[in-house]
Amino acid sequence: MRKPFIAGNWKMNTNLAEGLALVKAMLGDLEKLKSVETVLCPPFVSLQPIMDLVRGSSIYLGAQNVYFKESGAYTGEVSPRMIAGLCKYVILGHSERRQYFLETDAVVNAKVKAVLATGLAPILCVGETLEQNEAGKTGEVLTRQVRDGLKDIAVEKSVVIAYEPIWAIGTGRAATGAQAGQTIGLIRHTIAELWGGENADEIRILYGGSVTGSNVTEFIKETQIDGALVGGASLKAADFVEIVRLTEKIKQQS
Ligand code: PEP
Repeated sequence: MRKPFIAGNWKMNTNLAEGLALVKAMLGDLEKLKSVETVLCPPFVSLQPIMDLVRGSSIYLGAQNVYFKESGAYTGEVSPRMIAGLCKYVILGHSERRQYFLETDAVVNAKVKAVLATGLAPILCVGETLEQNEAGKTGEVLTRQVRDGLKDIAVEKSVVIAYEPIWAIGTGRAATGAQAGQTIGLIRHTIAELWGGENADEIRILYGGSVTGSNVTEFIKETQIDGALVGGASLKAADFVEIVRLTEKIKQQS
């Protein structure tokens, strides 16, 4: 049984006061939805005070990125060691990191290794562009991103994968549940090739891309989909709580 998983990626939004207000507005409601593993991913600078706020609750925190070195002359970077103790998860390989910061699969793989070595768990994002999708290359692209992202890594059941078609992120144009379910089945197959079928069946794989309270049910109903990585809608307390609430409801029914 894979525990349902919803993560909110706040991206480069909220200052400290706004972040604290956002958490305060949803913490009580999220606390009642314990069958879902709920993760908030605020900006680095807010991790410590938000950790102080959620400590003792069922809510986990995640970072949105990290550098792969432990320490040294890497001005402006943050190492896994610096955030260990402040969060459990780290989003890696998000398409915005790949696009704007030119992160390759090799860099993502180094980050996945560094995160695991520190005892944190990666949320490894993969996804195809619209062009690749229309050219029928989705399977090929995702297989490569998963294989290269997890290269030389032995079975690690703490790893979470997020399938985020780039054309669906922040566009309001989500995939359909069926499309996402089928593609996530393919990702699970790739993990089975790497780590064996039984292990692959324990890995949580999320859908991400314009998820809201209005469409989350469609994704969560799919047996292959274990939850969602939520961008825009995670910045509104009521919307995010609704996504977690519907996830709990649907998964309890299935
Ligand atoms: C994301 O950035 O991971 C994401 C899925 O964003 P949105 O929900 O806004 O499409």
